[in-house]
Amino acid sequence: MKIAILPGDGIGTEIMAEAVKVLNALDLSFEMESALVGGAAYEAHGHPLPESTLNLAKAADAILFGAVGDWKYDKLERQFRPEQAILGLRKHLGLFANFRPALCYEQLTHASSLKPELVAGLDILIIRELTGDIYFGQPRGRRTAVDGHFPGAEEAFDTMRYSRPEIERIAHVAFQAARQRSKKVTSVDKANVLETFQFWKDVVTEVHAQYPDVELQHMYVDNAAMQLVKAPKAFDVIVTGNMFGDILSDEASMLTGSIGMLPSASLDKSSKGLYEPSHGSAPDIAGKGVANPLATILSAAMMLRFSLQQPAAADRIESAVKAVLSAGLRTGDIWSEGTKKVGTREMGDAVVAAITGKTITTKT
Ligand code: NAD
Repeated sequence: MKIAILPGDGIGTEIMAEAVKVLNALDLSFEMESALVGGAAYEAHGHPLPESTLNLAKAADAILFGAVGDWKYDKLERQFRPEQAILGLRKHLGLFANFRPALCYEQLTHASSLKPELVAGLDILIIRELTGDIYFGQPRGRRTAVDGHFPGAEEAFDTMRYSRPEIERIAHVAFQAARQRSKKVTSVDKANVLETFQFWKDVVTEVHAQYPDVELQHMYVDNAAMQLVKAPKAFDVIVTGNMFGDILSDEASMLTGSIGMLPSASLDKSSKGLYEPSHGSAPDIAGKGVANPLATILSAAMMLRFSLQQPAAADRIESAVKAVLSAGLRTGDIWSEGTKKVGTREMGDAVVAAITGKTITTKT
């Protein structure tokens, strides 16, 4: 099993070190090879996704990714910005299906910004289409407007588009995932305004005919955003496009206590995948040793389950995470009165201790 390790920028290197430590504690034989990506790769090789990194990702059975980005690169031409690395990997590897489970651990119900009774036991799965929509649609750019409200003015534009096969394949992924859960899919669109999403709704409805055992509900994205904070437990599987999924999954992360708890998997058609926390490189806390590594550690568990066929090892990691939370250990983002605040490294050490059956120390 070959795993490409791409730590990236900011807290990426800190959280990745902990995930690697946890993988090493499992006593499985992995080959792990690291490469630069994002701003770090741009500094060293002049490109955020160098050929060597892309080749490593292609050759690996799975990719574990930290995070990329830093405000200091905001002035670079778009093609050289760190974020292009993750977009490039998704595109080159055909990673069209993004799984973002939002699970509220019993121990963290009080860390959520919502009332505990609204989030206790929350377990929803957001499936985001990842290689289409307005993020990839062409043409895009800047030009002088020839019509609209201000002809002659400078304007910018992007293209929202989805083809039938793109919608069909993500709909199948969602219905199949729902069959493993409570058999309910909510397809989120903006069909009342956007032609692209009327088409989305039509195609999802057609695909649904093949899954009569699964309930399908359609919801406009503005209502979905509202329902996610009003009654999140009413959802099971949510399937949506790239941009809506990006926004809704960050919203859902807050239900779970912190974006630092939210893993993700991006899969191709044969379940090869890239696994990463749902958060970014958090430049505001980078280098301080305070970032929560659990989203990355839980991403490693998803990798073991989905791409490396090691479900027992995935279970061990997830149980270990629950054990450290039960022991009262918290990084700053999930800390609450009465729990013990720890740094990134201590949190990783505690997960390793739980995996290897050692006592989890909670000394200050
Ligand atoms: P962010 O997710 O990096 O940070 C948002 C907030 O959450 C910050 O306050 C941060 O401190 C906090 N946070 C994030 N992860 C945390 C963790 N593990 N533990 C504790 N706190 C955590 O989003 P942002 O600030 O909007 O973006 C920062 C950079 O990351 C930008 O350059 C952005 O483009 C990039 N980004 C990259 C990815 C990716 O690599 N896939 C995803 C999103 C954003």
